[in-house]
Amino acid sequence: MRYLVVSDIHANLAAFEAVIADAGQFDALWCLGDVVGYGPDPNDCVALLRQYELVCLSGNHDWAALGKLNLASFNADARAAATWTQQMMTNETREYLQALPSLRNMGQFTLAHGSPRQPVWEYILDPLVAYINFMHFENNYCLVGHTHTPVLYEQDVANSDCLVRFPQYGEPVELGNARLIINPGSVGQPRDSDPRAGYALLDTDAMTWEHRRTEYPIEETQNRMRQHGLPHRLVARLQYGW
Ligand code: ZN
Repeated sequence: MRYLVVSDIHANLAAFEAVIADAGQFDALWCLGDVVGYGPDPNDCVALLRQYELVCLSGNHDWAALGKLNLASFNADARAAATWTQQMMTNETREYLQALPSLRNMGQFTLAHGSPRQPVWEYILDPLVAYINFMHFENNYCLVGHTHTPVLYEQDVANSDCLVRFPQYGEPVELGNARLIINPGSVGQPRDSDPRAGYALLDTDAMTWEHRRTEYPIEETQNRMRQHGLPHRLVARLQYGW
């Protein structure tokens, strides 16, 4: 099976469409949460996801849009975007997001939005936090999003350590025997100074993982955000990838 693995679409339809066009053929889609929040097209992004054979998780921004968490934990821009998203979502979108889990086990893969230890909230931003999280899932591999940064952590059991590997785009890597925590990056709001949409392809027959980036018409998303009066800083950051 060939899986398209995405995370943190953040209601950026232009980016999500570009990813689907760039991915080529795939059998199923895994989405690691934060489908909505920040961007201008929450309903269209959910509708497009649902056209595929899909496993989808919910993230903290999906929870915010559903009123499942206190917006006081968000900064002012994220709060404004969450409030706007709450008003824009159709009942259909809301009901779909409401039913999503934040963690799933799929064969050898554990899927979580943030981390296996704290699926909605925890950011795995460094090897130490990754190292601890290897003790919080039983499968060989764990796929996470939330940080908006593509990366691969490898458990080094012999040295009680954790290795960090940064993506080689477009080059499939063998998953091998070591246990891994992998982040595909963010479709709709990358934060690694590369504004291109990030995603990955997983081939469970060949057991390979391929990080990818693709250009998308950023100004299209930015124009739609301006039309809806979304915060200027959220509009600007898309072109810098932060
Ligand atoms: Zn996110």
